[in-house]
Amino acid sequence: MRLYENEAKQVFAREGIAVPRAVGVFESAADVGKAVGAGAAVMLKALVLIGGRGKAGGVRRAAGRAEAVSQAADMLGRRIRGYPVERLLVEEAVETTGGAAYVGVTMNPADFNVTVIVSPAGGVDIEQVARETPDKILRVELAANEATLPEAEAARLAAFLASGLPGGAAQTGALKAVVSKVYAAFQKYDCKVAEINPLLLMPSGPVAADAKIVLDDNGLFRQGGLFRLLGLTTARHDVSEPTRNEVRARAAGFRYVDLLPEDHVKDPSKLYVGLVPGGAGYGIFSIDEVGNIGDRFFGGRVVPVNFMDSGGGPTVAMVAEMFDLLFDCEPVDLVITSRFGGISSCDVFIRGLVGCLIERRRAGKRVVPVVGRMVGTDLPSAREFLERAKRETPAELEDMHITVGNRKIMAEVIREGIRYAFDRKGWA
Ligand code: GDP
Ligand code: MN
Repeated sequence: MRLYENEAKQVFAREGIAVPRAVGVFESAADVGKAVGAGAAVMLKALVLIGGRGKAGGVRRAAGRAEAVSQAADMLGRRIRGYPVERLLVEEAVETTGGAAYVGVTMNPADFNVTVIVSPAGGVDIEQVARETPDKILRVELAANEATLPEAEAARLAAFLASGLPGGAAQTGALKAVVSKVYAAFQKYDCKVAEINPLLLMPSGPVAADAKIVLDDNGLFRQGGLFRLLGLTTARHDVSEPTRNEVRARAAGFRYVDLLPEDHVKDPSKLYVGLVPGGAGYGIFSIDEVGNIGDRFFGGRVVPVNFMDSGGGPTVAMVAEMFDLLFDCEPVDLVITSRFGGISSCDVFIRGLVGCLIERRRAGKRVVPVVGRMVGTDLPSAREFLERAKRETPAELEDMHITVGNRKIMAEVIREGIRYAFDRKGWA
């Protein structure tokens, strides 16, 4: 569960880290006007659960009330990287004199070591620093998962920061305290991420100009104290706004997740594969296998676009809607499907697919090739239906290639399907 910036700052402030003085949290420009002094320099910050707001226009400075009101009016109601801006955090602007640092604590997912990362090149994406100037990052892993940061490690991290920051030498002790406090907060509140970027060096000491905390959902049950501090009564589901496809699938009663952002710009050199799997497990397998086969045999030029799960025995109409959604989805070049009929029936599946294709062809709607396999419950009647449909409506089913039975493994079906789509595009 991700905290909003103002909440994360409350947490850090409670741990003794200096944060900018908050003017308040506002939902309207008029309220901003009532709270900001005529000549007060303030920062306006969009309260959205996503980073990189600065670059997207979600963090602005205003020199006084009038400017703050007009900036607030412009920001509210906008979207920042897809998230609607409904509230603004307004703070006294911190005027930097020294440098900007990065301090972050997270967990290495490979070995579960708590990892402290610091950099004197803060204020930008730490991933960018890692790419461009990796020597400006110090990373310390704590295999013993100590509750507090060991003294020697804290000193080493602080010295690294201090030596790279203008005016840092005089603040080594204060930097050490901040790093230790971020670490302690990470442990105390069961965080997945506790991060300050930028940590600004002021004459009075380091100030956390931004704050990010992501709580581990598995630890929420023991964070009652934190919930009370923040005035929260229930856990927040901080998923992004659902995409159009996700909304459509929800209305139709099946689970669907877009793997690409809605504003994703299609790479014309790649094949985009939509997936209608049989079950959630098969869905995850298919995503993995499409990517894997694409990497191994097609130069990494294959992109799975979605996860989907019908959740038990779908109806014919629901199966049709699962395909309809992907045919309507402009980036999709190929649909790969698999019906491993257990609870659900191959017969229902094939009727849904064939019905969808016939209807769309006759209506002149967009269709892309469909390849896949079906095996399991009701296979004999499904096979019979499929054979008859291919005889009776060959034109409508021209680009549908469904393997019946499990003699051919799914990995092979996927590979052949991608090969087929590549050939159709005239790609090597
Ligand atoms: P993010 O882009 O979502 O990480 O949002 P930040 O809160 O980090 O703001 C983006 C950038 O705005 C920061 O990297 C700073 O350069 C700048 N910034 C934010 N708050 C302040 C502040 O109080 N004073 C100054 N001088 N710069 C700030
Ligand atoms: Mn930031």
